[in-house]
Amino acid sequence: MTISRRTFIKASALATVGARISEGRTPVTIRQPVAQRPVVISSSNHVRLEDGTDYYNGIRATKKAFQLLLEGKDTLDAVIAGVNIVEDDPNDISVGYGGLPNEQGEVELDCSVMHGPTGRAGAVAALKYVKNPSRVAKLVMEHTDHVMLVGEGALRFALAYGFQKQNLLTERSRKIWLAWLEQHSDRDDWGPSQVPIIPEPESAEQRWIRQIIAERPTGTINCLALNEKGDLSGVTTTSGLAFKLPGRVGDSPLIGAGLYVDNQIGAAGSTGRGEEVIRTCGAHTVVENMRHGMSPLEACLDALKRIVHFYPGRPDFQVKFYAINKRGEYAGASIWSGAEFAVTDARGSRIEPCVYLYERPKKK
Ligand code: ASP
Repeated sequence: MTISRRTFIKASALATVGARISEGRTPVTIRQPVAQRPVVISSSNHVRLEDGTDYYNGIRATKKAFQLLLEGKDTLDAVIAGVNIVEDDPNDISVGYGGLPNEQGEVELDCSVMHGPTGRAGAVAALKYVKNPSRVAKLVMEHTDHVMLVGEGALRFALAYGFQKQNLLTERSRKIWLAWLEQHSDRDDWGPSQVPIIPEPESAEQRWIRQIIAERPTGTINCLALNEKGDLSGVTTTSGLAFKLPGRVGDSPLIGAGLYVDNQIGAAGSTGRGEEVIRTCGAHTVVENMRHGMSPLEACLDALKRIVHFYPGRPDFQVKFYAINKRGEYAGASIWSGAEFAVTDARGSRIEPCVYLYERPKKK
């Protein structure tokens, strides 16, 4: 399924109201999408395969969650069911089964969930062998007096609740990992021999893998839901930074960093460079900004500015924030242009562009 971006941008522009914000030297008009309940938003999770087929997992997740909201299901159950589709999809190399591994070739998953009506939260980090960390995080929330379990403890807990151990490294992610190992340094013994050989022509698969590892792949899905009554919940689930050091924990499983929900105010989540989001308590900052009167869009942009403030030049990484307030106004914002997010509400499912701080330089 190929989605026409123009259609979605048009749909979103029709349904927005203007707000003026001074960004850098030029004041720009940014648009805060109009309230509509229920609504589900998520990161876009654009999947592109070797054969050129592409689709948006964010659309699949928000559609599923929205459907469940219409059936009267709890907001947290709705977003978890939405992201389960992505966790189960071997083609999405940033989440769950098929997610890219750490530098040792082991898939380690991070996830947090937060339930607005009760204010409860659950999380797992560096969880191996279980493809649905969102379901395990919810069990941590419901069946323990803790908020977060990590590593071996998280795995034992999941097995106790009946999850089966499974190899999460697919053939595709194994090949990408090996290609990364061979190419990331010329000062180790991975990679082809120094002895001159006649190079073979690059196959379509090799080209696809080379393009993937040219930029360190990022991903993750954050999904936020607001039902008709005004209850909110959220989830952020990921395989984390590709080729990370074993045991590295990103922002996604940290309540207040990759996810925060306050049922009186709104919900926020993030994707992108997790270390930066942790340092600035990203999602909590966005929700606090909304508490102090900012719209979701202003709140996300302000939180991004707090990150870039540490970089006198321009940062070479991407961070995206997503937010919904209690009224149903929502936003996606990013440091660099080109980012998108998914929305499903009564008007349908669509991909909308994130509002950004900096225009990405054109590739020469
Ligand atoms: N935020 C995730 C992490 O740092 C990665 C991502 O969203 O791409 O683990």
